[in-house]
Amino acid sequence: MSSPLSFILFIFFQFLFPSSFCSLSNSTHEVIIIGAGASGIAAFSVLAKNKTDVIILEAENRIGGRINTVEFGENVVDLGAQWVHGSKHIGYKLANDFGLITKSNFSLINYCYSNRKEIPNDLIVKFQEISMEILKCQDIQEELTVAEFATEKFKNLTSDLKVPEEFPNLLEDMLENLMHNYIAGLSAFDWNQPSARSDNEDCDENNYNWKGKGYKTILNVLLNKAPYGSDNFEPEKKILLSKNVIKIKSNNSEGIVKIYCNDSTEYKAKRVIFTPSLGVLKAKMNMFHPDLPDHKQRAIKSLGIGGVAKVFLEYSNDWFNKHRKFDVLDLIWDKNLRKSLKNFTTDEGVPWITDLAAILSVDYNPNLLYLWFDGQTIPFIENLSEEDLMDGIQFAMNQFFGHKFDIPKPINILRSKWYTNEHFLGTYSYQTIESRKQPSNKHLGEPLQDQYGKDVIFFAGEATSLDHFSTVHGAIQSGFREADNVLKSL
Ligand SMILES: Cc1cc2nc3c(=O)[nH]c(=O)nc-3n(C[C@H](O)[C@H](O)[C@H](O)COP(=O)(O)OP(=O)(O)OC[C@H]3O[C@@H](n4cnc5c(N)ncnc54)[C@H](O)[C@@H]3O)c2cc1C
Repeated sequence: MSSPLSFILFIFFQFLFPSSFCSLSNSTHEVIIIGAGASGIAAFSVLAKNKTDVIILEAENRIGGRINTVEFGENVVDLGAQWVHGSKHIGYKLANDFGLITKSNFSLINYCYSNRKEIPNDLIVKFQEISMEILKCQDIQEELTVAEFATEKFKNLTSDLKVPEEFPNLLEDMLENLMHNYIAGLSAFDWNQPSARSDNEDCDENNYNWKGKGYKTILNVLLNKAPYGSDNFEPEKKILLSKNVIKIKSNNSEGIVKIYCNDSTEYKAKRVIFTPSLGVLKAKMNMFHPDLPDHKQRAIKSLGIGGVAKVFLEYSNDWFNKHRKFDVLDLIWDKNLRKSLKNFTTDEGVPWITDLAAILSVDYNPNLLYLWFDGQTIPFIENLSEEDLMDGIQFAMNQFFGHKFDIPKPINILRSKWYTNEHFLGTYSYQTIESRKQPSNKHLGEPLQDQYGKDVIFFAGEATSLDHFSTVHGAIQSGFREADNVLKSL
């Protein structure tokens, strides 16, 4: 045990020079990965298997990033990524090789109208066909926004449609519903922002769920944890949580990268892989010293990222299935109600409850409903008190189903808050017309050199994927890609 004097001196110096004492290591790591989301974990798995000296610095107090599986109801729910979209990629292969996923069924899609009128079945079928055709985004001759393309196509495809007189606003309301489907899929706040043409290859494939185990299972597969591997690289010791990186300096005579965290710790590495979201890059690109090159800054500014919000409600039973089973209830808000709502509005008077676009049942969790919000009011919704959010939801439920059910109060509520969390600042990225004027996703993924011209800072993350951005498998691919590039450069 040390003497009282040395203890006093230790305390004294700790206050005088906090960063030098807090700093975990003076050694220079071969590689430091910033961010323990899917891309960071994927890169880590490759480097650790290659016996590289690698650590991860992660700002949150958990791994997974935009994969966040939590216990709720009788099982788990995913507050972030939920489905494996499509099958022609590494994410599907990793999961399918262990038999971890199964196809989700979205065949029971019902439309509900807020004015409580029953839309004739033949019209519903027709609308579904039209929506599917438009959402496929084919034959786009020029650069158009999603709004321009979809509105024009919708008008053409519905021009001969006979809509009964008692539905005077139906076409307009269906177009609004189509807009919600679009911005939900793209996580844009406004459908005038994304480009209708996109390099994303995941347009119209099947979706697979994790058989009640949640998307976080993929992290265990990547980390080689039992039963998916031998767990021989003890990842827990190498992944440092609650490490919020605030500065990255690469231009110094030592030819190493210095990383500074907001708890006054500092780290050094020969190579860095940076993985935080496009939203984080937009807000904090001045953390890089020297500044990011112009073309990378342009890519960051012109690519888009917005937000969606998920709300899970737990009930004491599955009352909603008593009437009719469904996979998805697509909500159509009547124009008159949308325009006249005085309650459930933002401070600027914009209704937020009408950004509730769909209600879904939850695989393997029968007493849950899963509500999907999208649109410009997401930041406001994320900041609402639980009570105000619940009041709005009860109002909406009553408006749509109050004539059919006594709507019970949920016993629990859980929601996502991706947009207002400074470690994400958005949900997933999309291409805009501006971003498509240059190869923005490619520029985003290009490395930075030190003063000797050596590649030292590498960029991974979903938005750096050329053809699968916005997805987990795009993020995983990008992590593998950059781990390989780092290994070649060492
Ligand atoms: C609501 C929602 C639903 C989704 N649904 C699906 C789906 O069904 N299927 C699908 O394929 N994809 C889906 N996605 C997209 C998918 O989740 C992401 O594309 C993917 O997880 C992104 O991984 P990433 O590694 O690129 O980024 P992230 O997961 O964001 O990882 C980056 C990490 O960096 C950390 N970080 C940020 N700033 C700092 C800092 N300064 N210092 C240190 N660490 C920092 C973050 O905390 C985070 O852990 C969904 C996303 C959301 C939010």
